[in-house]
Amino acid sequence: MGVSFDKIDGVIWYDGKLVPWGDANVHVLTHGLHYASCVFEGERAYGGKIFKGTEHSERLKNSGRILDFEIPWSVAEIDAAKQLVIDKNNLPDAYVRPVAWRGSEMMGVSAQTNTIHLAVAAWEWPSYFDPAEKLKGIRIGLAEYRRPDPRTIPAMAKAAGLYMICTISKHKAEREGYADAMMLDWQDRVAECTGANIFFIKDGKIHTPIADCFLAGITRATAIDLAKRRGIEVIERRIMPDELSSFSECFITGTAAEITPVSEIAKWKFTPGAISEQLMADYTAEVQPKGKAAAA
Ligand code: PMP
Repeated sequence: MGVSFDKIDGVIWYDGKLVPWGDANVHVLTHGLHYASCVFEGERAYGGKIFKGTEHSERLKNSGRILDFEIPWSVAEIDAAKQLVIDKNNLPDAYVRPVAWRGSEMMGVSAQTNTIHLAVAAWEWPSYFDPAEKLKGIRIGLAEYRRPDPRTIPAMAKAAGLYMICTISKHKAEREGYADAMMLDWQDRVAECTGANIFFIKDGKIHTPIADCFLAGITRATAIDLAKRRGIEVIERRIMPDELSSFSECFITGTAAEITPVSEIAKWKFTPGAISEQLMADYTAEVQPKGKAAAA
């Protein structure tokens, strides 16, 4: 196990100031901790620039609004805070984690006047990987929990509370020897993984579930865009699990996962192939800071 996340050396942007890593704390009576009034982002910097950073800041602001709070910083201010954190910690290739939460003024379900806090941390996460190794594909189990009906929870927010079932499902999958778990939705359709969206390939076409009860990932949108630029048709539709045997390739997308091929989901097998490989290469090129790739 690596160094504990509260013990890293560096600075964290906390409510407008850079503070030493170990001082970026909250009180135990924090609304965000007790009632999950907390939203966050997961972003990646490549070569000193966050890929689609402004889209992530906008999603963060929007997630807060869905949870009935306004983050007291503009998208431009959040963008600047994230850049400052990367620069000050000298982390050109990093995972970036903004988090916003309700503070401690009221401790109950109602928290109308609680202060909204914002922090931004970043840690090293090199983007380099061995494409041959990754192309073997990961093995995924099937989660017991379903992505909930969007009428029961604000499913489109990247909100802490939605991850409770993800952690339970991922733990179970890991105990069974899998890298992750695929979740169905409340109508038993294929939905996504615990922290990544999912795609399937059949006869040269890409199929992916409609993102109406789970996070429509920023990487998902990038992958769709990259595929379309290659002239590959992308079909967003309802996908039932009994269809999985008809697909030849499968991959997942997410800021952390980037584009990762899948070799197995429970009893269904896939062989990562040309389309997955092409999109992985295209994604690696796409995330490079603009201008830099051309100059190199
Ligand atoms: N679904 C879930 C549940 C996630 O946590 C993530 C990662 N943020 C994604 C999908 C992929 O989203 P993105 O591509 O924006 O990182």
